[in-house]
Amino acid sequence: MSSGSAALEALRAAARDPRSYIRAWRSTHPGQKVLGVLPMNFPRELAHAAGVLPVIVPDDQEPVTEGRAFLPEFYCGYTRNLADQAATGRLSDYDALFVADHCIQLLGATDVARELDPARPVFLGQLISSLNEPWAVRKTAEMMSELRSEVERLAGVTIEDTALAASIRAFNRDRALLREVFDARRSGDSAFSPVELQDIVAAAQVMDPDEHRELLAAVLRDREATARDERIRVHLSGHLCHAPRRELLEVIEEAGAVVVDDDLWTGRRYLQASVPEAIPPMEAIAQWYADRNVAMPCPTRVQHDVDWDEWLLDSVHRSGAEAVIHLMPKFCEPHMLYYPELRRALDTAGVPQLLVETEHEGIPLETFRTRLEALVERAHRNRPAYA
Ligand code: SF4
Repeated sequence: MSSGSAALEALRAAARDPRSYIRAWRSTHPGQKVLGVLPMNFPRELAHAAGVLPVIVPDDQEPVTEGRAFLPEFYCGYTRNLADQAATGRLSDYDALFVADHCIQLLGATDVARELDPARPVFLGQLISSLNEPWAVRKTAEMMSELRSEVERLAGVTIEDTALAASIRAFNRDRALLREVFDARRSGDSAFSPVELQDIVAAAQVMDPDEHRELLAAVLRDREATARDERIRVHLSGHLCHAPRRELLEVIEEAGAVVVDDDLWTGRRYLQASVPEAIPPMEAIAQWYADRNVAMPCPTRVQHDVDWDEWLLDSVHRSGAEAVIHLMPKFCEPHMLYYPELRRALDTAGVPQLLVETEHEGIPLETFRTRLEALVERAHRNRPAYA
């Protein structure tokens, strides 16, 4: 196996089996803590600077069993999976759980985790979600300071600004390398399949950033760029907080499309914004939070001067995507709320689109394949050769 293949395998393993990664990390970092953070806005740099491994808790794709009793069926699959992880002891790899977000379903899952295991610290430090308010900057800074204090309490150390600046650089370098891969894909290089790219980003959400970057660099040294091909270019949109099931991504390419860009949480949404390095680190962390929503608008935030639909249209123009597939986790309220705007904007621009509601338990793949083939056919008709 080449060093690039071995590195990709290591990334894939961390993405698909984070618990083994955490256990291995603990064995080489005795006495240090592992923090489970819930998506999508917790600044992992704060924990990293305290010597803590901050892991974004993924949907582990296990069936929901005992956790079914703790949340209503109309909660999204991710939160029902989190409740199940709590109910069956699968959150025991984390020394604590921290949340910085607002989605009501996420808060419900957090409450379940707190209720079922009162001994595990759960800190709910919500960042302001209304970003145009005159007090948004102050409130963000206050909450970031609170998160810093809570991490210090958990780790039993004081976070020095120099350590925080170093952690910011480490995450920025990793995100920058990831962005290079995503930008190359947008320009026509399909060296990585959507499943490979998803694994690479999901691994970044689990691993130490320096280790992740070194592995990714090894993968890139071995990969040859591919020429742009003639398949229908599609943009994947949505799937907040967790990864879509891998088989969905496989079917998309089998149906004659090539994914050229996305705004998925396990895609560009994770890596879109860097933390500024030229200003004091706490100020920079607060600025990053504000910048993220401009770099890629999120339906869990309110900001009157940025729109997901406008961003999506710009992105489609940048990548030359010929169709958009909306991957919406069933009952994801923020996504449901914004979807009509997205649909209208794309319809007006004449971009073919397909809405797919995903479920934690999976969806019928053959139906999905048929709908995709119809989308690909519609996009083909938009090509000049059809005129
Ligand atoms: S934003 Fe959507 S996917 Fe994320 S926790 Fe809320 S409902 Fe679930």
